[in-house]
Amino acid sequence: MPTQTLDIARANPNAPAIAGGTVSAPVRPSLIGLSRKKLAAALQEAGIAEKESRMRASQLYNWLYVRGATSFDQMTNISKAVRTTLAEQFSVDRLEIVSEQISTDGTRKWLLRLADGNEVETVFIPEPGRGTLCVSSQVGCTLTCTFCHTGTQRLVRNLTAGEIVAQVLTARDSLGEWPQPNTPSAGQQRTLTNVVMMGMGEPLYNFDHVRDALEVVSDGDGLSVSKRRITLSTSGVVPEIARCGDEMGVMLAISLHAVRDDIRDVLVPINKKYPIAELLEACRNYPGLSNARRITFEYVMLKGVNDSDADARALVKLLKGIPAKINLIPFNPWPGSAYECSDWDRIEAFAEIVNRAGYASPVRTPRGRDILAACGQLKSESEKERASVRLARARTEAQEAAAAASDA
Ligand code: SAH
Ligand code: SF4
Repeated sequence: MPTQTLDIARANPNAPAIAGGTVSAPVRPSLIGLSRKKLAAALQEAGIAEKESRMRASQLYNWLYVRGATSFDQMTNISKAVRTTLAEQFSVDRLEIVSEQISTDGTRKWLLRLADGNEVETVFIPEPGRGTLCVSSQVGCTLTCTFCHTGTQRLVRNLTAGEIVAQVLTARDSLGEWPQPNTPSAGQQRTLTNVVMMGMGEPLYNFDHVRDALEVVSDGDGLSVSKRRITLSTSGVVPEIARCGDEMGVMLAISLHAVRDDIRDVLVPINKKYPIAELLEACRNYPGLSNARRITFEYVMLKGVNDSDADARALVKLLKGIPAKINLIPFNPWPGSAYECSDWDRIEAFAEIVNRAGYASPVRTPRGRDILAACGQLKSESEKERASVRLARARTEAQEAAAAASDA
């Protein structure tokens, strides 16, 4: 998508001509991610009468989330005059796709540029009978889990609800998932069926925006991904877990990864603040928890760190009494990572103990490894570039210092 530009000379006939002719336009507020109520309020601020604003908000909502409109021009049941007003004041632009990579196993990874130039990654994982979109909640992550690539990224900000919802819209655009005109929606099969908040960032540290975004994503009159098919993964922000159940009502996944505090303190350092016992207590009290709505415990298999038979037995014991699923995740290495993935026979032995305790097929097959799209490998290109620029600068400085020393 081209960057928005404004021809100054055309906007103001008295303005002096500028060499090159264009400057960046001020960013118009996006309507993506707003609830119907907030949408109506925004329209009122733009001068649309209160009564009309409610009707327009419903129309807009339908265009954005049921039909996948990418511009006001497409919204043909809204009068041209209103469309022009809207287009002058607001945007429904998608995020800019910097790159789209498709893995040999069908996994797709998009690098998306936000309006301020920051970048996030979104991954789509097709499986038989379902398709899962892995959505980011932050640029980078303030937490520093030692096995996670995102945790090494320094630049961090929360994504807005609009930027979170826009990841879903972008994926649907790319998958060609909007209803075709004159085709009954009933017969149309969906490829994007599930959403997991497991991309970059800690979603419970961006609670309000994630909640607002998931409200839009799950709305039956819009994107319609049921809350049973939305999973939020947290490293264990204990004080927000009950609220997550109460206010979001989505499925919960916990990045457990260790059964002892001394090991978890290193792997998932937030454990020093909220140790395992407190985390599991919050899980036991998770609103809506039942055998039909279990918590998923994620456990990354790290060679020689957390993968012994004793660890497996302790894991089963620890989770006793909690309606749980266990997901063993083979560690996905990334350039410079300090860990190794457990050997396959070790993973199988560990899984066997977990299986015998009644947990079904707990090993998650890594997907999209060839495009670094697997769990914990997400990190934006711009950050990598910055890192390489930093490295180049450090090298130049070192060379200059060496040259100066040899001159002296
Ligand atoms: N911040 C949240 C959600 C994003 S991470 C959280 O930590 O839960 C999604 C999952 O990927 C988490 O379980 C995380 O621990 C796991 N993960 C991170 N890096 C990984 C890696 N290199 N290999 C395998 N899993 C990883
Ligand atoms: Fe952040 Fe989750 Fe990575 Fe930990 S595992 S650094 S919480 S994204």
